[in-house]
Amino acid sequence: MSVAPATRPHEAAVGPPMPRQARRPRYGSRMTFDLVTIFPGFFKSMLEYGVLKRAIAGGQASIRLHDLRDFTDDRHRTVDDRPFGGGPGMVFKPEPVFKAIAALQAETPDRRFPVILLSPQGTLFTQAVAEELMRQDRLALICGRYEGVDERIAEHVATDEISIGDFVLSGGELPAALIMESVVRLLPGVLGNEESARQDSFSTPQAGPGEFRHGLLDFPHYTRPAEFQGWRVPEILLSGNHEEIRRWRRQRALEKTWRKRPDLLAGFPLSEEDRQRLDTLQREGCEPVAISGLGEQKL
Ligand code: SAM
Repeated sequence: MSVAPATRPHEAAVGPPMPRQARRPRYGSRMTFDLVTIFPGFFKSMLEYGVLKRAIAGGQASIRLHDLRDFTDDRHRTVDDRPFGGGPGMVFKPEPVFKAIAALQAETPDRRFPVILLSPQGTLFTQAVAEELMRQDRLALICGRYEGVDERIAEHVATDEISIGDFVLSGGELPAALIMESVVRLLPGVLGNEESARQDSFSTPQAGPGEFRHGLLDFPHYTRPAEFQGWRVPEILLSGNHEEIRRWRRQRALEKTWRKRPDLLAGFPLSEEDRQRLDTLQREGCEPVAISGLGEQKL
């Protein structure tokens, strides 16, 4: 995996670095997530719903919860301490995290799997990163808390740091859950229909064979009734003409992306038809949406 550039001068202290490329396509084998957290109970209910529940029951994923406090030596099971240099808050001590990861690595003969530190300072998590992670057999996710973790954990234990966005949460548990959810739904056999994940917004050819819009937003979806409060479903979708529907969907995906996330079009492989469509949109004065009038009522 090539998620994060990291300087790890002493990484041999815990284990060799993770492989820098995708290991192999995953078909039919189980993917293991090892979550290192001070709140293992946090994950319990979410493992009983939706794709996570289905993936566990179906044998595509195994999710192991490791209480960081089990890797402490003192009577109080202390995982944190005050920051050197002063300042507010507490910081995760290095020893319990080093021990927890070393114990996990000891279970795997070559000790090579990604050890991901959840951190607002990490590489931004995207669908492309999820597609890369789903090719791993095993992932360890370290959930920080308080002011964060001793920097030596980032430097010498984690192979990668991942952020779920430019905002700060109180702990790494929600980010870890979010990452697991988005990775697990890509594993073959987890969703009822494989094609469904591959047509989602942001999907790339990495996710597997299928029809890709190469990172575009998804096209609009409609279901019954064909008319609701005077708003009619686009006629083309009722026509039964699959080729025309395919072209319509591609154009709408392109339009949505142009309007909502024009940044995604940078470097996008536009077909001649795509180019013409974008020219038309611009000629017609269709502009990317700017956030204004947040919460403006539509009904
Ligand atoms: N002081 C840290 C900073 O400013 O970079 C923030 C620490 S945060 C309050 C506590 C923990 O929550 C972090 O160690 C990390 O595990 C998790 N966390 C918070 N925001 C996150 C984000 N955007 N992405 C991933 N993890 C996050």
